[in-house]
Amino acid sequence: MTTTVGVIGLGNMGGGMAATLARHDFPVFGFDLSQAARDKAAAAGVTPVSSLAELLDTIDIVILSLPKAEHVEQLCLGKEGTQEENQDTTRLLTLGKPGLIVIDTTTSTPETSRKVAAALATRGIDFIDAPVSGGPKGAASGSMSMVIGAEEEVLARAMPVLEAMSGSRVHVGGCGAGNVAKIANNMLAACHLISTAEAVSMAARAGVSPEKLLEGVNAGSGRSGASQVMFPNWVINKAYDSGFTMGLMRKDVGLASDLAAALGLELPLANAVAQLWDESRASLDDSEDFCAIVQRTDSTLFG
Ligand code: NAD
Repeated sequence: MTTTVGVIGLGNMGGGMAATLARHDFPVFGFDLSQAARDKAAAAGVTPVSSLAELLDTIDIVILSLPKAEHVEQLCLGKEGTQEENQDTTRLLTLGKPGLIVIDTTTSTPETSRKVAAALATRGIDFIDAPVSGGPKGAASGSMSMVIGAEEEVLARAMPVLEAMSGSRVHVGGCGAGNVAKIANNMLAACHLISTAEAVSMAARAGVSPEKLLEGVNAGSGRSGASQVMFPNWVINKAYDSGFTMGLMRKDVGLASDLAAALGLELPLANAVAQLWDESRASLDDSEDFCAIVQRTDSTLFG
């Protein structure tokens, strides 16, 4: 039987995911508040719908790609996040049919995933948190990496869709564990971007070009996603067009600080890095590319 898929949130990531699934011959329906996003998805073989009710009427699996945890909670549980059965026909809890699987690819919080999953379970709807890495290019090519929090049985049912969307899937635990892993991953990415900027700036002032330094680092033990992907593609050429915004990275850095605080952990390096991301608000708008943070380390070299 053909699995019909819905995608909610057709932005930089969700738009690419929907197009990838359509390319894999899944019937795909897409919903976004933005007409421009719906039009773009339609051009990529996705059937656009203009309401959540219309979307949930036809699909077996729904993928969420929303900016933040609060968007996920509101879409699933309603404005107040109430879990009571009521007639709120704008929320997934009321509109979703028993048997539906929700795959949330939003970088969200473990608490939100668990709260939403528990509420949806009362209606026979399953929930998987599967946050992603790989940027818009990875979403559009189906090569994203996923860290997944899910029950084995639900994961097995969702696997054909997950496989079509991603190149790597690591099942890290039960519901919420995917977001724990994603928050830890992005804490590293936020640190690496700044530490690599400091290393590149220091070496440049000591006479080694950024290009040559990165070649050496990438063959050595200092390499990371920053040195292998971010600097070569978006920083050294000053393109700053990764498709991941400063606002979303600030959100993720904040999620790491919140998680550490909730666990009573002192993380001196992550704290210092979080402070730099926070202070950068003074000069870098939420809509700018997240890689632009390096300009605060060395505005001459990276500006
Ligand atoms: P985006 O802002 O480009 O897209 C989000 C989309 O959601 C927008 O089109 C918006 O109109 C839509 N939306 C918001 N609320 C909605 C609602 N209630 N109903 C329907 N549509 C709604 O964001 P993005 O860059 O695609 O990121 C999405 C998620 O993926 C975020 O959690 C982000 O942290 C994560 N992520 C992004 C990247 C990246 O490189 N961009 C990489 C990995 C993970």
